Amino acid sequence: MGKKKFNWCLCSLYSDSDKRAGDTSDPYRGPSSSSCLTGCPRAATNPTPGPHDISQSRAADPTQPVLRMFPKTTQGQKRRAFNPQWYSKYSWLEYSVSKDSAYCYACRHFSLPSASESVFTSQAGFSHWKKALYKDGGLTFHDRSDSHVNAMFAWREYKNHMLSDSGLMDLIDQEYKRKVEENRRYIKTIAEVLLLTATQKQAQRGHRESEDSDNRGNFIETLTVIANHDALISEKMREKGNAKYTSGTIQNEILECLANMVRDDIVKEVKESEVFSVISDESKDLQKKEQLSLVVRYYYSGAIHESFLDFQYAQDLDAKGLSDKIIQCLEKYGLNYKENLIGQGYDGAAVMSGKHSGVAARIQAEAKQAFYVHCNAHCLNLVLVDTVKSVAEVDCFFTLLQRLYGPYLAPSAIDFVHRRMCHSYFAPAF
Ligand SMILES: [Zn+2]
Repeated sequence: MGKKKFNWCLCSLYSDSDKRAGDTSDPYRGPSSSSCLTGCPRAATNPTPGPHDISQSRAADPTQPVLRMFPKTTQGQKRRAFNPQWYSKYSWLEYSVSKDSAYCYACRHFSLPSASESVFTSQAGFSHWKKALYKDGGLTFHDRSDSHVNAMFAWREYKNHMLSDSGLMDLIDQEYKRKVEENRRYIKTIAEVLLLTATQKQAQRGHRESEDSDNRGNFIETLTVIANHDALISEKMREKGNAKYTSGTIQNEILECLANMVRDDIVKEVKESEVFSVISDESKDLQKKEQLSLVVRYYYSGAIHESFLDFQYAQDLDAKGLSDKIIQCLEKYGLNYKENLIGQGYDGAAVMSGKHSGVAARIQAEAKQAFYVHCNAHCLNLVLVDTVKSVAEVDCFFTLLQRLYGPYLAPSAIDFVHRRMCHSYFAPAF
C-alpha cells in the first residue's frame, strides 16, 4: 500500500479568511500577496463562505449546536432532520441553525485555493439529509474526498503548530519572569544595603574598591557578606559585564530614589496635616558652598514631626535671596505656604529676623499666618557661649581649640588637602 501523497502547502495556513474584520486572535498571519513563497497560487478573493452563525475563522472551533429538536423537512417519503450524532463521527461537521444546513469546517478554513468548491463550503451548505450517509454522496463521500483529506491534514498541522508555539512561548515567558524576579531581588538587596549604611550614618564608599583592596568600603563589604550566603547575589556580583549596579554613580542614583520616596511621604503627611511651620538655616558645606537646609514641622497622626525636606545651594545670602529660596522649595513640593504656613523658625541674625526686610518679614508678607519664632536651639547656643565666656579657663580652652581647627577649615587649607588627596589617589605609584 503506497504512502498517501498530500497536495498541501503552508500557504493554506494563511488563508484570507483570517483577515476578516474583528478576527485578531489568530497569531498566524499570512502574506498579503496573492501567491505564497512556494509558488502555490492563493485565492485572494476567497473569503470563508457560509452563514454568520458558524465558525468565522480558524481561531474558532467548529460550530456544533445540539438543539432539542432539529427542523424536519420532507425528503422522499419521510420527514428528515439533521442528526447531531454525526458530530462524533465527523469532527469537521458544522451546523447552521439559520440555514438548517451542514458545512465542513476543515474545507472552509484550510482548503487549497485550487480545491474545487463543494456543497459543504458553499453558502447554502448541505441539507439533503436523506443522502447524508450515502457512500456516493453526503458526509461519508465528502470525508473521503482528496480535497477534504488535504484540508484535514492542514488543519491538524495548524493545531500542532499552535500547540508547539504556545509551549515555546510559555517557556520564554517563564524564563523572562524568572530573570525579572532575580534582577528585582538583586536590586532590592543593593537598595537595602544602601539604606542600612545611610541610616547607620556610615560612609558607603571605600578609599580603594578594587578586588585586591583590604577594605572596599561599607557598601561593597556588606554586600560581599550577603553574597557569601546567597548564591544569586554572589553570581550577580561575579558576572562579567557592567550591570552589577555597585558603582558610585548607581549608589547615588538609588539613594536619590530612596530619598525621593521618603520625601514624597513627608510631603504627603504635611499636606494631610494642613498647617505647618518651617525651620531653616544656612551654613557652608565641605566645598565651602553655602547651603540652605529646610525642615518642616507639622502635626500628624497624634504627634508633632520635624522632618528634613531639602538642601538648596544659596548664591544670594541676603534676605531676598534666602526668602526666595525657601518659597521656591515649598512651591517645588506643592505646599500651599500662603494659606497653611503658620510659623517660621530661624536664628536671630538680622538677615533672617529683621522686622522690615528680613527673611521672616518677607515670607510673612505673602503668608500672613507665618509668625516668626527665634529658634530655641540657637537661643540655647547663645546662652552657652556667654556662659563659657564667663569662665576664664573654659574660655581659654575653647579659644585654643578654635585656633587649632580654624586654619584647617579655611578654603585654602581645604583646597590643599583636596589636592593632596586627589594626588595620592590617582597619581601612578612609583
Ligand atoms: Zn471538507
